[in-house]
Amino acid sequence: MTREQSTDVGGHAANTRVAIVGGGPAGSLLALALAQRGYGVDLYERRSDPRGQIADRGKSINLGLSKRGMQALQMVGLLDRVLRRAVTMRGRIIHAMDGTGRFQPYGKDSAEVLHSVDRNELNCTLLEEAGRYPSVKLHFEHQLVRVDKQSRELEFNVSGQNIKVRPQWVIAADGAFSTMRRELQHGERADYHQEFHEWGYMELTLDAAAGGTSKVELRALHVWPRRHCMIVSHPNLSGSHTLTLLLPFHGEDSFATMRTPAEIETLFTKYFPDLIPLLPDLVEQCMKHSPAGMVSTRTAPWAFADWAVLVGDACHAVYPFYGQGMNAAFEDCSVLVRELNDCKGDRETAFRRYELARRAHTDVLCDLTKAACVELRQKVRSPWFLARKRLDLAIHRLLPQAWTPLYTMVAHTTIPYAEALARSRRQERILLCSSVVLALLTVGASLFYALGR
Ligand SMILES: Cc1cc2nc3c(=O)[nH]c(=O)nc-3n(C[C@H](O)[C@H](O)[C@H](O)COP(=O)(O)OP(=O)(O)OC[C@H]3O[C@@H](n4cnc5c(N)ncnc54)[C@H](O)[C@@H]3O)c2cc1C
Repeated sequence: MTREQSTDVGGHAANTRVAIVGGGPAGSLLALALAQRGYGVDLYERRSDPRGQIADRGKSINLGLSKRGMQALQMVGLLDRVLRRAVTMRGRIIHAMDGTGRFQPYGKDSAEVLHSVDRNELNCTLLEEAGRYPSVKLHFEHQLVRVDKQSRELEFNVSGQNIKVRPQWVIAADGAFSTMRRELQHGERADYHQEFHEWGYMELTLDAAAGGTSKVELRALHVWPRRHCMIVSHPNLSGSHTLTLLLPFHGEDSFATMRTPAEIETLFTKYFPDLIPLLPDLVEQCMKHSPAGMVSTRTAPWAFADWAVLVGDACHAVYPFYGQGMNAAFEDCSVLVRELNDCKGDRETAFRRYELARRAHTDVLCDLTKAACVELRQKVRSPWFLARKRLDLAIHRLLPQAWTPLYTMVAHTTIPYAEALARSRRQERILLCSSVVLALLTVGASLFYALGR
């Protein structure tokens, strides 16, 4: 979509300025989408402008982009550009303790793949495109500190000074620890639930070999799953991989016991011996970074009259085990933009419809991510689990319209999460009943044959 094209058919966006708090993936995508539809946008981000800055090594999280996120990028006309800078992941390679790797495809064909994207680069692309619109003002180093709901005022800390603004309406895209959410819910009958995972995570880099070739298969996600801890790796275009070490914060074999070079080497020798030769600067990297926590939140309501609405991690942070956090945040953006368009200026109705369309599904996603963690820790190497996965994919290939594995529905379609789960449970029941019938028939046939003799 070009800057001249606006899909705001009703013209309700004209003369409307929205404040977006948070310039992460959701905030910057919305700034662009709304500018394209004729809105004026003030985006406030507490950090400095990331454009033109070289990402600090170890902080450049790579994310798996899937269908829901791709659809939102398509909406703002950036999908092709983002995909050109992404690495396609055809499946995941599960690395066992003995150093062997087993490939598990993500889907039935080359369309059912994930794309590894650099979070900083994606964020910068979105900010850059949004910033091209004269109607968009990007305010970096503006940290929201207070909200006055009565006078509809936002207060920001800017280089030690507090400034107040009174926007017509606000989108809160300020992440899992959203100040906007906290301030809006203060004194309201609101629900908020927050859980921290016992594991923390640390980003490490597996550099490319000389000549830019990858030291492990490039076009795949790599997982070193252990009951006690895990490493997940996303590929980069440069041939390097961003490894995420997931480890308990405390107790035996934890970040707390991984502080000296000897402790780091002992832990990697015990759990990830095949990675040691590939990471010559392992100790240096581990000593340089500190682990971060993983939080899962759910909350209600998401909207406050016709003035404020929450999107992305601000209303539903999830653990990263399903690779859906950003994808779900982007899907929020698509739905919010659609509802604002359909409701033609009636923001209160648009917000209500948006929350109704999303909240039940992101609550289910929250549960799915917890189940995915158990799957990765305990089941992913079990022969029964692998056979079940293969059977699921085989039936999907045979009957693509009638049968779709849960992972496929979550990652490669936009079927709402709760519907995907309900459909998958129906399939489970069909499979169970078919197995029982098959077992009974086999027993019956054996008895008939035995008695007949
Ligand atoms: C280890 C890890 C791996 C992940 N992998 C994946 C993956 O593979 N696929 C996937 O889809 N998702 C993944 N995610 C999740 C994904 O990163 C998040 O869901 C996504 O970043 C949410 O985007 P957001 O814009 O809602 O929030 P955020 O990315 O948190 O952005 C919020 C922004 O608001 C700003 N801000 C915060 N407070 C204030 C304030 N008071 N004033 C002004 N600005 C403020 C912040 O600086 C930030 O820029 C992963 C997450 C982690 C931790």
